Amino acid sequence: CGIVGIVGKSDVAQRLFDGLKRLEYRGYDSAGICTIDHGELVRRRAEGKLDNLARELQADPLHGIVGIAHTRWATHGAPTVGNAHPHIVGSVALVHNGIIENFKPLRDELIAQGRKFESETDTEVVGHLVAREVEGGASPQDAVAAVLPRLQGAFAIAFLFRDDPDLLIAARMGAPLTVGYGDGENYLGSDAIAVAPWTQRIAYLDEGDWAVVRREGIEIYDRNNQPVEREIVQSGASS
Ligand code: GLU
Repeated sequence: CGIVGIVGKSDVAQRLFDGLKRLEYRGYDSAGICTIDHGELVRRRAEGKLDNLARELQADPLHGIVGIAHTRWATHGAPTVGNAHPHIVGSVALVHNGIIENFKPLRDELIAQGRKFESETDTEVVGHLVAREVEGGASPQDAVAAVLPRLQGAFAIAFLFRDDPDLLIAARMGAPLTVGYGDGENYLGSDAIAVAPWTQRIAYLDEGDWAVVRREGIEIYDRNNQPVEREIVQSGASS
């Protein structure tokens, strides 16, 4: 039930983990982190408490200066490691809070095209839809813009693209999501507390907004894909 993302200038795994800790109050049944290391998407996931994820990370540390992290409150599929986020489909990794109401017809469409699913989640259909666009030659930004109008439900989603390590894309529809403005790095979080130790300068996405988050800046688009300005506020959240 929490999302954290960093497009940073130093290793992110430990900081993402700390961000998940600050979102623990929301409740969760499993958790995971994905980064890009030497051009590959790499991840660690665990059932249950964040301590279990911490053990995974300790045994097998994750490197990389861009990444996304998630605490899951299962709605579709049991709280297993295989259903834990981040999900990876081809060159796309994603985390998602909420529900994709129309996942069933989307999943049927994708399976009919021969696409293979690895989890029981509603989330994975979004990964396939975006990966399909990217495989067809779309930029990450165009891929997300093409897929968002097809999704029904209340959700927040964040994407990481293997082939663009200077990029996170996040979308908000009915579930909270903030972007944080740092110094040579930028952030995503379910709330201001998630990013509080790194920045107090945040903007809340509006319903239907999606954000293109890079090290050097953040662009926000509305549901009609028009660039919009959202006020940057001083969060006042204490870490
Ligand atoms: N519906 C997704 C799942 O079951 C996300 C649940 C959540 O909000 O964490 O995996």
